[in-house]
Amino acid sequence: MAKTAPAAEPDINVRGVRAAIRALPDSLINRIAAGEVIERPASVAKELVENSLDAGAHQIDITIDAGGKALVCVSDDGHGMGADDLAMAVQRHATSKLGDDELVHITQLGFRGEALPSIGAVSTMTVTSHSQGASGAYELRVDAGHISSARPAARRKGTEVRVERLFAAVPARLKFLKSDGAETTAIADTVRRLALAAPKVGFRLQSGQRTVLDLPPADAALPFDSAIAQRMRMLFGPEADANMRPLLASREGLSIEGRLGLPTWHRATSRDIHLIINDRPIKDRLLMGAVRAAYGDLMPRDRFPAIVLAIAIDPTRVDVNVHPQKADVRFQNPGHVRGLVISAIRSALGEAGLATSASLEQQALNHLTVGSGASSPENPGGFEAPQQAAYSAPDFNWNKVRVAQPYGRAMTPRLSGLDAPSSRQTDDHHHEPEALDDYPLGTARAHVHETYILAESRDGLILIDAHAAHERLVYEQLKAGMERDGVGSQPLLVPDVVELPAGQAATVLDQADALAKMGLVVEPFGPETVLVRETPAMLGPCDGAQLVRDIADDLAEMGTSERLDARLKRVASSMACHGSVRAGRRLRTEEMNALLRQMERTPASAQCNHGRPTFMKLDKKALDRLFGR
Ligand code: ADP
Ligand code: MG
Repeated sequence: MAKTAPAAEPDINVRGVRAAIRALPDSLINRIAAGEVIERPASVAKELVENSLDAGAHQIDITIDAGGKALVCVSDDGHGMGADDLAMAVQRHATSKLGDDELVHITQLGFRGEALPSIGAVSTMTVTSHSQGASGAYELRVDAGHISSARPAARRKGTEVRVERLFAAVPARLKFLKSDGAETTAIADTVRRLALAAPKVGFRLQSGQRTVLDLPPADAALPFDSAIAQRMRMLFGPEADANMRPLLASREGLSIEGRLGLPTWHRATSRDIHLIINDRPIKDRLLMGAVRAAYGDLMPRDRFPAIVLAIAIDPTRVDVNVHPQKADVRFQNPGHVRGLVISAIRSALGEAGLATSASLEQQALNHLTVGSGASSPENPGGFEAPQQAAYSAPDFNWNKVRVAQPYGRAMTPRLSGLDAPSSRQTDDHHHEPEALDDYPLGTARAHVHETYILAESRDGLILIDAHAAHERLVYEQLKAGMERDGVGSQPLLVPDVVELPAGQAATVLDQADALAKMGLVVEPFGPETVLVRETPAMLGPCDGAQLVRDIADDLAEMGTSERLDARLKRVASSMACHGSVRAGRRLRTEEMNALLRQMERTPASAQCNHGRPTFMKLDKKALDRLFGR
């Protein structure tokens, strides 16, 4: 059958044909805006909960059905809206939140006046509200952009927004939604993030008959840090207390408060990195990078910390109007914020010092086999078979490193004091063991299975993985050496000429001194081109040109590059691994004690370079409990 030519459309949609310019009707504008603001049911939940928070709510109840596709309903006890406000609220770009006509002093979560009209354009939305001090409530309905007039309704306080049949009129969007379960998870995630930023507000999320989240408000009188801690306990479980530490820092009009997870309490995804700027949960690549850089080599490379960082900054120094969803921000001085985040995390981790993931102790206790007394012919002592390992180590190939020599070779710094008797030992022999007991890691009693050091302190029993601990110490020494003396470089036979995108050569050359200290020597070479003369000897033969290109990209995108530093640290880490005490070598008592003392002095010695713990402590009280003493 021959195709019939399409009937000629008048004016529009035909390329090359000039159509008259016309202003779009509001209904269409709202539908277009909805495409940016409302991506999925979780975006509806986010916008509505933000409105409730802006309205000063103390309790926010969210009810959803079919992953939010059938229903998202948010109900609050905030200040509410009167009949006139209701009619305005669903109009485009109508907001009560910008006091003046500037976008520089934004203190509330909303300000664009887009959410309600956008949601109303792509759903059936019913807003019911009782304004503070008014005699009654009003209700207003928007059905796929058609606004009805407000009429009296029954509600005692605050506002309820019911969003039904989301995207029913936008099949293209509907098609891209995930399963009900996945959309429910996304909504729960959104609520969790907002709930962490507002710990003094109660949140409840109900999906059909199921209560997904129930978070009572923290006492209004609690300091913010304690309120956050309480909320984290609710969200992360009781382990949170033992595995997290407070964090506090401030510098020039910028302050950070929060809680950070110990490096041994790591996660498979970045989902529990919570960044909050002036009470607004945000996603920011720069700050995510800063968090990961701060944990850096304390954590396996493919794992993520759990952390809540609440940053307070002068609102004029941060732009939140970057994206319609308001999750991105731009800082006036990104380097400043990044620097403070890194130093705050580092110093909190430093203070955490010898703390190793506290839940490990609990796990170990759970896996101790205790004589049950129920003996049988096959099992005379009544002991149970050992259960699975208490701690599952991240993927790490021990076979690769077993070829190493014992420490003490040229490449490996010796552990200072590992052989030298400590000054205490020469003092008074009678008091010496007691004195050693007073150290946090106690005094070494035995080397068991040629792997673990068994130590005794005043208040407990400590098991140390000698290889893991020594590896960390050697690594920290290597790093200190790199820091102090710089990294040696190796001249290239033929220097590499690297052409870079416009403007990038200058940014790389700005960093030339810092790069040279790490063994990468670059020089100017004509416009937009640099010359690589030397590469870090530690890296062996490497593609210097590619390295420079990657660094240039980092600098262009983030204003800083940790790439070379990270690579050097990885090499140092593997050198440390080769150079440390192997399992299977019998350690002398002085060696063991020297190792313990050095651990106490070394930052971050509670975990090895692969993020595994280096020691576990069993509290004496826990031991006594185990034996019913
Ligand atoms: P924005 O939050 O950017 O101002 P919205 O479209 O989300 O824009 O809301 C428009 C206006 O409706 C808000 O400025 C506020 O005055 C009012 N409003 C929305 N939700 C609520 C609520 N839950 N309680 C009280 N007022 C609300
Ligand atoms: Mg809003």
